[in-house]
Amino acid sequence: MLAFDLSMAPTPESLDERRAALSELNAGVGACRACALGLSRTRAVPGEGPADAEIMFIGEGPGYYEDQQGRPFVGAAGQFLEELLESIGLKRTDVFIANVIKCRPPGNRDPLPEEIGACSGWLSRQLAIVQPKLIVTLGRYSLARFLPGTPIGKAHGQARRVNGAWVVPMYHPAAALHQGSLRQPIEDDFRKIPAYLEQARRDAESGEARPALAAAAPAATQMKLL
Ligand code: SF4
Repeated sequence: MLAFDLSMAPTPESLDERRAALSELNAGVGACRACALGLSRTRAVPGEGPADAEIMFIGEGPGYYEDQQGRPFVGAAGQFLEELLESIGLKRTDVFIANVIKCRPPGNRDPLPEEIGACSGWLSRQLAIVQPKLIVTLGRYSLARFLPGTPIGKAHGQARRVNGAWVVPMYHPAAALHQGSLRQPIEDDFRKIPAYLEQARRDAESGEARPALAAAAPAATQMKLL
């Protein structure tokens, strides 16, 4: 059972409508029991950021500290994410930060397919509300949402158009904390974000790109930076 039926919700237009829709969504996530994680969590973690953010970062799921605080990326990985954002002149309040699943799997185990499926509607709704110009996936579960079957080792750092929206796969910041050799690739990939965003803005102005509303992707095209 989907936690949220996207087909039943109107797409908000004005900023006020988008903010109101996000508040409604946050309340819905907080009350959601569509999978067993809703019973074991301390707090649901819907995500946070401006309702009109140009970039949405999508991680995997809440860990211990996120579960305690109800906010995404507040542990060591979150600190590294903030450093990475600063390295390209952004603050975390400039971007929207979400996860594929909104409640912590016990012991930080990997989320189960049925949990990801149950939670999928919430992320679809966030994408429909925020309509980011650029989606940055962090980690393999987030990548699989948009580019199923794509190995992160090959795809990271390359922007692709998925269902009309630009998606940039990246390693999860936590991966660099466990495996030091990934730190440099993550930093290099982040440095590409401003150029990708510029390209995505141009595409949006010309009507060539549109916000992502759905999950699974058919054929994707790769962004060619000038
Ligand atoms: S993980 Fe998602 S579907 Fe499961 S209870 Fe939490 S919000 Fe609902």
